[in-house]
Amino acid sequence: MAAGLAVLAAGSGAHAGPRPCDEFYARLPNVSWALCQAAQLQPSAGRSVKGRTIYTRDVAHAQPELRVLVIGGMHGDELSSAAVALHWIRLAQGANEAVHWRFIPALNPDGLFDQPARRVNANGVDLNRNFPTPNWERDASYYWEIRTRKDPRRWPGRQPLSEPETRFLHDEMLRFKPNLIVSIHAPYGILDFDGPSTPPRRLGRLYLDQLGVFPGSLGNYGGVHKGMPVVTIELPSALLTPRNVEIQRMWTDLRQWMGVTLAGVSAPAPAEPLQR
Ligand SMILES: [Zn+2]
Repeated sequence: MAAGLAVLAAGSGAHAGPRPCDEFYARLPNVSWALCQAAQLQPSAGRSVKGRTIYTRDVAHAQPELRVLVIGGMHGDELSSAAVALHWIRLAQGANEAVHWRFIPALNPDGLFDQPARRVNANGVDLNRNFPTPNWERDASYYWEIRTRKDPRRWPGRQPLSEPETRFLHDEMLRFKPNLIVSIHAPYGILDFDGPSTPPRRLGRLYLDQLGVFPGSLGNYGGVHKGMPVVTIELPSALLTPRNVEIQRMWTDLRQWMGVTLAGVSAPAPAEPLQR
């Protein structure tokens, strides 16, 4: 029995997989080992299709008045988006504001760590078309078949929230009740916004250029239908992370806009603890 337990323990250790920073450091541009280690990523209860852990990090200061959910790597081939999220964890740690940040740097780890990296998840689903917007069954498939001509990179899936990654994010939205969602993408080099507030005009070198709404997108679901403002950042390159000074500028502009635009919101209901 004892021998069996020992074998089991050794076996489970062997299947624990690489530490997150081994993979992030190897894959992401402009992310040093030290930056990733300092981010202190925590395993969540969320798993990808292939069973990869979805990592998160909470940074909260005393008596937070705002909750902000930051998501990178929803599209696995947009490497820079995960890198910027890791840089922002460092900046959030150094700030002392009444904000509770929750970072999900790589929502789609199967796509991010595939060789080569892929936009879609392991089921071939575009996660940013898989959120339950009204009339999803009709609009998402119509959009995919007619507008994208069945582009396999933009398949919305068989039904809304069919994917473990989108279900995880959807559950996080319910648990965390963010006042703001920041969703980082690439490579269109603009800023998009959905929701009830006044949009930010610019973040660093990115200017507001609203692209319109897509069936099943997070901006459409969260911003238009749930009243949670969604800032969508489209970095100018998927493979090149912005320089540190630009990452800092975007961060400063975001917080300045938050202070002006979101300061008046009533104190939010307490968030539930992160599920492991
Ligand atoms: Zn994207």
